[in-house]
Amino acid sequence: MPERLPRQSEDFPAWYVEVVKQAGLAEHGYARGTQIIKAYGYALWENMQAALDRRFKATGHENLYFPLFIPQHMLEREAEHVEGFAPEVAVVTYGGGEELDEPLIVRPTSEAIIWSTYARWVQSYRDLPLLYNQWCNVVRWEMRTRLFLRTSEFLWQEGHTAHARAEEAREEALRMLEVYREVAEDELAIPVLTGRKSESEKFPGAVTTYAIEGLMRDGRALQCGTSHFLGQNFARAYDVRFLNAAGEQEYAWGTSWGFSTRMVGGVIMAHGDDAGLRLPPRIAPVQVVIVPIYRSDAERSEVLEAAARLHAALSGNGVRVRVDDRDQYRPGHKFNEWELKGVPIRIELGPRDVRADQAVVVPRAGGGKRPEATAAVIAGMAAWLEDVQRTLYREALDFREANTHEAPDLATMRDGIEGDGGLWVGPWCGDEECEHKVTEETRATIRVLPLDDDAAGTCVVCGRPATARAVWARAY
Ligand SMILES: [Zn+2]
Repeated sequence: MPERLPRQSEDFPAWYVEVVKQAGLAEHGYARGTQIIKAYGYALWENMQAALDRRFKATGHENLYFPLFIPQHMLEREAEHVEGFAPEVAVVTYGGGEELDEPLIVRPTSEAIIWSTYARWVQSYRDLPLLYNQWCNVVRWEMRTRLFLRTSEFLWQEGHTAHARAEEAREEALRMLEVYREVAEDELAIPVLTGRKSESEKFPGAVTTYAIEGLMRDGRALQCGTSHFLGQNFARAYDVRFLNAAGEQEYAWGTSWGFSTRMVGGVIMAHGDDAGLRLPPRIAPVQVVIVPIYRSDAERSEVLEAAARLHAALSGNGVRVRVDDRDQYRPGHKFNEWELKGVPIRIELGPRDVRADQAVVVPRAGGGKRPEATAAVIAGMAAWLEDVQRTLYREALDFREANTHEAPDLATMRDGIEGDGGLWVGPWCGDEECEHKVTEETRATIRVLPLDDDAAGTCVVCGRPATARAVWARAY
């Protein structure tokens, strides 16, 4: 039997830890800060990967792969980038039984090695744009670990593109931000805010960092993906020049963008409830589980036969379906377990259902447990899964709207953030001093500066005219 979960409202972090463990998503690794992603968690990640990868390819990108180790001198060329990553970098100094002549950096991100290589690949404007992505692991030393959300090693994709013109690179960064928004909202059912980061929150080495931000059910924000316009910063540092159409040497314009396994944590925290996970059908490893109910051997074979037929029909329609025919557990145990694992639709099938040519359908979100004719189960399943997908998105959006507040002044904002958290939106003068003051008093940071907002009003901290509207929250 799954153990009782802590209630979200009582202890959200403990709830998270128990869900990750009991749903079989991941566990701690042996080296500090590492994690073992278990099959169910990895299947969830694979479905996110597929959703991203087909959009990357549809927008003209190709996958390739760069090495894990970066010679130290290579990382040291972009000053802001080096400084930003120095505290988190892991370095190999020993290999093959001896001290290395030059230490090797275990990649924290791959701009350095990729732009070093682009210097050789780019000669003329005809070589541009380069539109590449890689799926890989990266290492950033972490002292405090939270499975999926903060680990020393994590999986992600990193896109790295080079362009002949600034506007083209800027458009690319925004195009990939839009891909992330679409995947977050349409596949993961997490509504996100899009915008740019403040100077102090941007990626080290970027000109502009764009991000999507989601709100988790404990009132804290989660950065769900970032896309950076790098300007010519990396091209200058790594000498990536090309001959333009007029025969002049120019530095290339760059972008990079990343989406990681922390979004498995995002899905858990955006949709889960006191009974466990609630997975959006489009990315759920198992979309439908059939639980056979029987007492005697005769009933068992009758019910399992019907379950196998239903399994074949649904599976033939492209539904990811499983029959839970384990004999060692009673149906009640199985119901709890699949609820905990967040399977979008459960089908209960007993001898009386088989004789009536029906099954009992139980959606994980939106309610509506009811018997349905077998033919309707087969024909209606795709639409019912879409209902669950829409319900999860709608609930997450309602939650975000209920937890988004206008910040009239700093004191109100501090009390609100101290209370239920949520997103606090207010005018900001653009001064880092005001930004830091808010963070000191509330532990909230600017999550995003929405792109389409106008900057009316006066700064909630200093009262000077605003240059932007900022969205503040405590964040993971
Ligand atoms: Zn101010």
